[in-house]
Amino acid sequence: RVAASLSKQHLPSARFSGDRAAPGTPHFDVVVIGGGHAGTEAAAAAARCGSRTLLLTHRVDTIGQMSCNPSFGGIGKGHLMREVDALDGLCARICDQSGVHYKVLNRRKGPAVWGLRAQIDRKLYKQNMQKEILNTPLLAVREGAVEDLLLAKPEPQRPGSFRVRGVVLVDGSTVYAESVVLTTGTFLRGTVVIGLEMHPAGRLGDQPSLGLAQTLEKLGFVVGRLKTGTPPRIAKESINFSILNKQTPDNPSVPFSFINETVWIKPEDQLPCYLTHTDPRVDEIVLENLHLNSHIKETTRGPRYCPSIESKVLRFPNRRHQIWLEPEGLDSDLIYPQGLSMTLPAELQEKVIMCIRGLEKAKVVQPGYGVQYDYLDPRQISPSLETQLVQRLFFAGQINGTTGYEEAAAQGVIAGINASLRVRRKPPFVVSRTEGYIGVLVDDLTTLGTSEPYRMFTSRAEFRLSLRPDNADSRLTLRGYEEAGCVSQQRFERASRMKASLEEGISVLKSIQLSSSKWKNLIPEASISIDKGVPLSALDILKYEEVHMELLAAVAPAPLQKYAECRELAERLKIEATYESALLHQQQEIKEVQRDEALELPEDLDYLRLKDVSLSCEVREKLHLSRPRTIGAASRIPGVTPAAVTNLLRFVKTAQ
Ligand code: FAD
Repeated sequence: RVAASLSKQHLPSARFSGDRAAPGTPHFDVVVIGGGHAGTEAAAAAARCGSRTLLLTHRVDTIGQMSCNPSFGGIGKGHLMREVDALDGLCARICDQSGVHYKVLNRRKGPAVWGLRAQIDRKLYKQNMQKEILNTPLLAVREGAVEDLLLAKPEPQRPGSFRVRGVVLVDGSTVYAESVVLTTGTFLRGTVVIGLEMHPAGRLGDQPSLGLAQTLEKLGFVVGRLKTGTPPRIAKESINFSILNKQTPDNPSVPFSFINETVWIKPEDQLPCYLTHTDPRVDEIVLENLHLNSHIKETTRGPRYCPSIESKVLRFPNRRHQIWLEPEGLDSDLIYPQGLSMTLPAELQEKVIMCIRGLEKAKVVQPGYGVQYDYLDPRQISPSLETQLVQRLFFAGQINGTTGYEEAAAQGVIAGINASLRVRRKPPFVVSRTEGYIGVLVDDLTTLGTSEPYRMFTSRAEFRLSLRPDNADSRLTLRGYEEAGCVSQQRFERASRMKASLEEGISVLKSIQLSSSKWKNLIPEASISIDKGVPLSALDILKYEEVHMELLAAVAPAPLQKYAECRELAERLKIEATYESALLHQQQEIKEVQRDEALELPEDLDYLRLKDVSLSCEVREKLHLSRPRTIGAASRIPGVTPAAVTNLLRFVKTAQ
């Protein structure tokens, strides 16, 4: 089957097939390799889009496994989950069935940057995810290790242009596919490290993927090496919680999914987390034993955003570092010490732990470890996540240099949708930076690449005020239904109804004028900065922090009562009112930038000295270093705000 006639430099280790599937060989529209967070979303999305899909993964019982932290969401990550949910993806719904401690982060800031987060029961998450995957129509699941890709023979006139035709398993069997999605996480040439010991593994206890890594490299993909790590797990009963700060969950819990009004567990039945800190003895042990820690000596890039305790000690010496003690599940005897990822030899890990307050008698049940693995430079994929080198081959998740379940899930849903659309010869489904954090993630990866594990933050998004967790359905559900077919009828109708109610509610609020005698009682004296005699619209009054829909409805019950009665609608109207004027301004800026995206920036522009244009020093430096060719490219530089791009655009246009 190998095309022996090809010259050696064109010869990938992938096998070649004819264009038609051999009779009797299994044949699917979409085959997804890997049952992690990217793979489950990709497989379910492709099936929801109507493609006959196969999820091929090492083990069915590890589908949905959370390899590291027992939590989902957070600042930026919660936004991604909401967007995955808006496209009818799985992780948000499964978290609402599996969480043990729900808490919204960043509450003191505006709702645009609230971070929905929950501690998750690992076992329950896996069980619920497996149930979902095994019951998804059009989705088949098979255990097996994929060793190689099957490619269609290149056309004689285009010898280097490949198209994927399927996969070859380790037992030599083949599965044909019209599109293939690779979501192999940390498994490509994965190596697990503890102390000076290193052994091949995708993660502790799992075989690495070697053949597939070789194939991708030989096909010409640019491959890099990254590393990450996980903390030791501690026996719950060996911890002295009584002397630590306790964090209780929110009451009420805020669900991740738009379709849930509540989560499966009452706040009073949820589990607490505890906070402790490292002390100087931890630094001493780490520094004295660097020679026994090969993960730290390695030059490959570790995660900047979930750094190991060793990296923190080296980068920020003599500090007390926070350690959160998080439950692994309702009936689990284990505690996950977040912030204490390490790769010291196992006996030294115990020593480190016993220096920490509350952990003086702690027992390590499983040592922490590091993993080093291949990733593929994501600049080799297009915004649909299809590779540029091999047609109909898609990459999603950690394979693209990201870290985190939510980043993987977000890419998975996009890759699954596009793998299916490609089979149906439909245009790709691309989310832009102005439409979603998914767009920010994909655009950052495909245009800038990454040299360290990439994680989502709200600061990466230029249009934070409009890309909020509360409105992800308005941004994506309707598009997902109409353009991709990945959204159920029921969800589509719900999102359409909500969108219509919001539009109607805003226009009603705008139309109601309240005399000052009515509105003055709603707003505390100190918050009022305008003439107290003027009438105001109900929308203007709702912008005040102290005012909510119930209060307004008490003043004008006839038109407003129905909006106050539905909790979700009332909360969303309040958020819309809060951001209304800032958003109008931002919408104009977005339109202005979109209209002139292709406008070329003069090559000799000296950003550091540019006069008559309002740009912060940070933005000037970023523009100076990146030297973008166009306004669109300038707008995509992380940290270059929309306001800065608009100012730059106006400057260039007047200077022309
Ligand atoms: P995974 O969830 O790893 O799933 C990969 C799947 O592919 C697995 O099911 C595997 O069995 C399957 N597979 C692989 N190769 C093949 C093959 N050839 N054939 C068939 N099936 C195959 N994230 C953080 O945010 N913070 C952290 O601190 C952090 N630390 C981590 C520490 C460790 C040790 C590990 C392993 C991961 C860590 N992560 C961390 C990352 C997080 O687990 C991943 O980002 C996330 O799971 C990636 O999802 P994925 O779907 O891309 O890959």
